[in-house]
Formats: sequence, structure tokens, C-alpha cells
Amino acid sequence: MRFQTKTVHAGVDKDTAYNSVVTPIYQTSTFRFEEVGKTKGYDYTRTLNPTRKALEESIAALEGGAGAKAVSTGMAASMTALHFLHAGDHIICTNDCYGGTERILRTYAELFNFQVTYVNMTDLQAVRAELRPNTKAVWIETPSNPLLNIVDIEALTKIAHEHGALAFADNTFLSPYNQHPFEFGVDIIIHSTTKYLNGHSDVVGGAIVAKTQEHADRLQYLVNAIGVSQAPFDSWLVLRGIKTLVPRMKAHEENARAVAEFLNENKSVRRVFYPGLPSHPGHELAKRQQTGFGGMVSFEVEGNIEKTKKILGSTKIFALAESLGGIESLICHPATMTHGSMNPELREKAGINERIIRLSVGIEDKNDLIEDLEQALL
Ligand SMILES: *Cc1c(COP(=O)(O)O)cnc(C)c1O
Repeated sequence: MRFQTKTVHAGVDKDTAYNSVVTPIYQTSTFRFEEVGKTKGYDYTRTLNPTRKALEESIAALEGGAGAKAVSTGMAASMTALHFLHAGDHIICTNDCYGGTERILRTYAELFNFQVTYVNMTDLQAVRAELRPNTKAVWIETPSNPLLNIVDIEALTKIAHEHGALAFADNTFLSPYNQHPFEFGVDIIIHSTTKYLNGHSDVVGGAIVAKTQEHADRLQYLVNAIGVSQAPFDSWLVLRGIKTLVPRMKAHEENARAVAEFLNENKSVRRVFYPGLPSHPGHELAKRQQTGFGGMVSFEVEGNIEKTKKILGSTKIFALAESLGGIESLICHPATMTHGSMNPELREKAGINERIIRLSVGIEDKNDLIEDLEQALL
């Protein structure tokens, strides 16, 4: 099956009881044993659930991994992935990571003595310079949030593997439609399915995908042990969302490009961050390693914080809200919202100043989106 066919069918079509076309929701915590020691493959929903299993098969197929686990949130996915490491291990993380990534790494550094170094991963030499004998993981997020920096997944994975470390990649921003980290050697992929995979802003969820069967088995063990599995109904919603991933991603990208080009010409905008613009420093790399540029656009306001707040408060279609990847357009102020929990010094160093605005461009009519921004930028 080709990718688009997989989004509609992988994991689905599994109802052997009544042949329903859509995956049933097994809204049950537990399953009857046929006799002592004998089940139909399911005993307790934290461990395995047929609805969730359908979603897991779908995501594993889309990423091309040996197995996937669907969990309660994207942060649960990141946290579970960190359980592939041990106390005292050193992790090299991209310096403009998602705010929650920095928070969980900081927490694990305090609790379990993880050592974490943040580095600008567009500079491969700088990454190499940070390797230590106990470096066990390289944590990649590309395009980054909110500045949409692009880093070279293949080169970073090679650095990690030459050192005997694992390569983790958060693939939330592009979804498996536009980026395939396993093709570049990554070991573990993380998703916030809250975003593009579900795509309708009505669920929080996460997924972890393992390339090898060995890692997939460990993942099944970890998710059951920690207890972060996704609820059956939420799993069903994400599975439903995935079926329209391709047409949604195409619409997001078409609109994002139009919005980026509009902002690029506007006097109230100092800089636009969109990998699809030839002026973006990561444009060539993005063309090479991605199959599209996605639906996220950020920009720096020409003016002060007051002007920035005025823009954030004046859009009518773009809702002032965190999150991204849903069909409706959102506008957000990273410095006080998504990245509010981040260490302020690290945030400034990563270039996330208070004049940066991030847009999650939805699938509305692009002319309405541009008109909305036009009046807000006045
Ligand atoms: C949203 C997000 C997360 C966290 O996901 P939740 O579902 O909010 O827990 C992690 N990484 C990236 C890149 C995100 O955008």
C-alpha cells in the first residue's frame, strides 16, 4: 500500500465479530478469560486494547517502524522514550526544543541525575564537541518550535550512532506525511498526536514508534509498566483523524505558503520563519529531507511588545491559543505561552524573543486568513 492508502486502511478493517467497516471502540477496562490462562489476546486495557492496537498499527505503518504505542499525551510519549536511558546518562538536545521537552529533561536531570546539554544542532561540529563518554542519546526536533529551524537528521543520527548513542526524533511538526526519520537512521520517533495526526483539536495524545522489534518490545513493556496508555475513545478519535491526514496536510501547506508570502511583504513584519521560503536558512536542507514544508509559520514583529500584543489581540479567525496542527487557524505568543515554562536564559539564547508570533495555519479559505492578518497587522 502507498502512504495515502495506508492512512485510510492500515490498522483498520479488523472487526471479526460483525465486520463493521470502522474500528469498534472497545470501551472496557478488562476482558473475560476463556479459562484460566487463556484469553483472546487481551486481558486488561492498560496493557493492550483492540481499538488502541488499531491506532498503533496505523502509526507504525505510516512511519515504517516495527511497532508503535499510543499514549495519553505527547509529553507521555517523550517521558516514556526517556526510559530507554538510565540514571546518569548524558543527552544532547536541540536548543530550541519544545518547552515541555526542556521541562521534562530538567525534571529528570533533578530526579535521576540525567545530564543534558543544549546545542544549536544546525552546527554539527558543535554537536560533536559536546559528546561525552556517557552520551547515550541525541534528541532531534525538526522543524523546531517556534522558529522552524531545520537540522540534518541523517548527519545527527550518524554522530549519535558512531558514539553508540540512540537517536530520538520528535516528528510532530511535519507528521509522517512530510518527514520519515527512520529513513535517516533514527531509532525512536515521538509524536504529539494532539497535533496533525489527530488534526481536529479535540484530543490530547502521543505516540512512540520504534524502528526495531527489540525496541518495540521494550516499548510495550515500558508503556504498560508506567501506565501511560491512551484511552480507547481517544485512540479511536486519533485513528479517525489520521484517515484525512493527506488532504489536510496538503491544505495546511497551501495556506501556510500563502500566509508566509503575504507576511514576507508586510511592513509590520521584520522576519518570517517558514522553511518553504527560499530565504529561509534551512530551505535547501528541508527540500532534501522533507516531502513538504508543513503548516507552521512564525514571524518577528517590526516594533515593540505593545505592537506584538496588539496583533495577538486583534485577529478574528486566528484564535489566540496554544497547540497546533488542527484544521482551525491559531495564533500564539511562544515567549509567554508554549515556551513560558522554558528556562528564560535558554529561551533568549534560542532566539525566541517576545516579538515572535507563531501561527498554526488551518485549512480555511486562505484569502480569509490573509485578510484577517492584514487587519491585525495595521
Ligand atoms: C505539543 C508538542 C509536544 C507535547 O505534546 P502534548 O500532546 O501537548 O503533551 C511535544 N513535542 C512537540 C514538538 C509538540 O508540538
